[in-house]
Amino acid sequence: MAECSLANGTRGSKTPPTKDGVTAAELFLEEGLTYNDFLILPGYIDFAADDVDLTSKLTRRISLKAPLVSSPMDTVTESSMAIVMALCGGIGIIHHNCTPEFQSNEVRKVKKYEQGFILDPVVMGPDNTVADVFSAKARNGFSGIPITENGQMGGKLLGIVTARDIDFLSREQYKVKLNEVMTPRELLTVASSGIKLKEANDMLQKSKKGKLPIVNEKDELVSLISRTDLKKHREFPLASKDEHKQLLVGAAIGTREDDKDRLDMLVNAGVDVVVLDSSQGNSIYQINLIKYIKQKYSDLQVVGGNVVTTSQAKTLIAAGVDALRVGMGSGSICITQEVMAVGRPQGTAVYNVAAFAREAGVPVIADGGVSSVGHITKALALGASTVMMGSLLAGTTEAPGEYFFSDGVRLKKYRGMGSLDAMETNKSSASRYFSESDKLKVAQGVSGSIVDKGSIHKFVPYLIAGIQHGCQDIGARSTEVLRDMMYDGKLRFEKRTVSAQLRETSILKAKESAVPRTPTIRM
Ligand code: IMP
Repeated sequence: MAECSLANGTRGSKTPPTKDGVTAAELFLEEGLTYNDFLILPGYIDFAADDVDLTSKLTRRISLKAPLVSSPMDTVTESSMAIVMALCGGIGIIHHNCTPEFQSNEVRKVKKYEQGFILDPVVMGPDNTVADVFSAKARNGFSGIPITENGQMGGKLLGIVTARDIDFLSREQYKVKLNEVMTPRELLTVASSGIKLKEANDMLQKSKKGKLPIVNEKDELVSLISRTDLKKHREFPLASKDEHKQLLVGAAIGTREDDKDRLDMLVNAGVDVVVLDSSQGNSIYQINLIKYIKQKYSDLQVVGGNVVTTSQAKTLIAAGVDALRVGMGSGSICITQEVMAVGRPQGTAVYNVAAFAREAGVPVIADGGVSSVGHITKALALGASTVMMGSLLAGTTEAPGEYFFSDGVRLKKYRGMGSLDAMETNKSSASRYFSESDKLKVAQGVSGSIVDKGSIHKFVPYLIAGIQHGCQDIGARSTEVLRDMMYDGKLRFEKRTVSAQLRETSILKAKESAVPRTPTIRM
């Protein structure tokens, strides 16, 4: 028998042809795919997961150390979420289902945030009662409450009510007004605004008090320092900051005439990036607004979208966007594809738009449909620079809204901005779906609730570590290398059969029943 010499050095019978997956271009040649429809094949590891650099562009001019963005939804991002997202290396986009005053104030809170200084503590007035303090304590878990003349931040400081002032009061005394029980101003140790955190820390240590109010020259309360917070003090080496060392923050706006006033207020508040919030971004309204913003505020970074096709992307890039938000119908609370018959599976949308936008140097934000950390790695591997999340961050301590109990489970509300619930709250939400003037609103989202997931102070570092481990398995030392590997065809993908996907669903279900803090959406 004639011997044949094979490439792998074996001699003898012919080795059957083998193939390690396909390139991204081959994977997306035919039908539309979601993140669950494929896997990435492993590569070669010669570095530690910790060494993987996740620095990625949010827009042409803004880079983040963690490619994570919180969605502009009214159950996901206000200032608390945006502050912690930025501290952890990502960014939060403040929603616009509220008045422009409220939204710009939320932006201001993020820009003014200084670690250790509490800018929006619970404040009460002299006429509030002891019962009010106890109910605030039940909601927020603390009881050191500053008392100001008008019951708000910025009011003249009159005193402070701490646990020691009210602990021994009987039920009948719950009606007593706070001016009768508070520790008055003259007995308080206070600091003047402008004080550095280190000095404030020293004052708090010396005074042995739990809270240090900070006042301005008119004796008005401007912030507060708390001993328990100082104990928790930690470093945030990844924090996303501007050139003045202030945290980065974004805000969403609609694409109608009155959004121009909202824009002015957001710019005055110091917003770094605006996201033009539309479910279908390829519209004359959005194109005109992009041009208007670029002319009026040339330094402001503008994210256009949402888009899912290269032709939609083309018009927005031509109008001057600094990044594109990609996704239509992929969100966990979204019913757009069912109701409007329009949309695109998210994997295919991200791959195609990112490949196209790359030519123009425009980064892509993969928006929605992310229900696990592996989905984030997949989105990045398909060319997205950053990933926007709603459900994954909803239900956390930093998400807006109060927790409530249902069947003994602690939950927070999570709703689509196109749900009837959200559209009825404010017309900004309806404008995202071009339906603010409709007599009969057609819902494109649903409303539900999500199990308490604790703080994103723990969750975002977990996501970062998960992406780093994914990149390590793939053999990519950075998100940039990951993208290059994909475009060079070195990154190999494989489709998953339906049974492989069902396996994942059953694992998730098993985890949900075993671990109550797993993100569960209840509709
Ligand atoms: P999730 O991370 O899968 O929950 O998706 C969040 C994304 O869904 C958001 O960033 C929006 O792009 C999108 N979205 C928010 N509300 C709605 C809605 O009511 N209908 C459709 N899509 C929505």
